[in-house]
Amino acid sequence: MAFPRARLITLPLLPSLFSTTLKPFLPISPLLPPPPVRSLAAFASLSASETQDSPAPRVPPPRKTAERWKPMCLYYTQGKCTMMEDPMHMEKFNHNCSRDLEVTNSMSNGIHFQNLDFFLVLDLEGKVEILEFPVLMIDAKTMNVVDFFHRFVRPTEMSETRINEYIEGKYGKFGVDRVWHDTAIPFKDVLQQFEVWLIQHQLWGEELGGCLNRAAFVTCGNWDLKTKVPQQCKVSRMKLPSYFMEWINIKDVYLNFYKRRATGMMTMMKELQIPLLGSHHLGFDDSKNIARVLQHMLADGAVIQISARRNPDSPENVEFLFKNRIR
Ligand SMILES: [Zn+2]
Repeated sequence: MAFPRARLITLPLLPSLFSTTLKPFLPISPLLPPPPVRSLAAFASLSASETQDSPAPRVPPPRKTAERWKPMCLYYTQGKCTMMEDPMHMEKFNHNCSRDLEVTNSMSNGIHFQNLDFFLVLDLEGKVEILEFPVLMIDAKTMNVVDFFHRFVRPTEMSETRINEYIEGKYGKFGVDRVWHDTAIPFKDVLQQFEVWLIQHQLWGEELGGCLNRAAFVTCGNWDLKTKVPQQCKVSRMKLPSYFMEWINIKDVYLNFYKRRATGMMTMMKELQIPLLGSHHLGFDDSKNIARVLQHMLADGAVIQISARRNPDSPENVEFLFKNRIR
């Protein structure tokens, strides 16, 4: 009766592979054929037109307001989820980035003409070195999410022990330290992939070497692009890429439009009565929340314009374009 015994021994091991909710990645044995991994070429994966329902219904389905909020699958946002066939995984994690960012008709009625076609909402994480690089691409006319780019970033000038402590402290509390370790890549590689993404969306051309084309980064404060990216470029021994030469500090636009001073994302959300979704200081969630602030401001009729620009001859000098601004 060797067969049933063997089954008894192996079966209890199986559920343990699935029991830990935050481990959607299975260890891949080199002896087994690899699971269907979304290729890097397909990482620009989600467009507003890509929905679960097929064929597209003529009348949009009623908004599922009763459906509970789910955390994003952070393997999916990086084009690396291998469990999209698993109903339990799909039930637990959100794989639709437009969720939480849906635009209603009444919102888009008030929208003003914009000088830009796309906003790239960016909210970096990491104090010593950058740990996360999330970007949401928002259409300036419809306010919809067109696409996103998300990578966890592995520091290059830190010991393994230090990295482990840093990640435990920063991401452990959100339960995403495992996905960070599984996916993080050096900043240099992140920017290389980001440039492919920009080119795919015709937002930038390497040969032109200039600013973004009809698009601009939107950040909450000046820290991300004035301070952190140049610092990280030095650490990673790279030249500051040309697409980082100008940006929109949403807090400056907020001050000039509402005539109210907001110190941060939480203040803006509170004042505009936008509930916080996800985990504050998880970069992808923060970017989504900043994008919701941006959508709200667009719906209120704000014109979202460049607020800071580096001098092309001396990039260390930043010129601030609004008279009234948050200091
Ligand atoms: Zn997933």
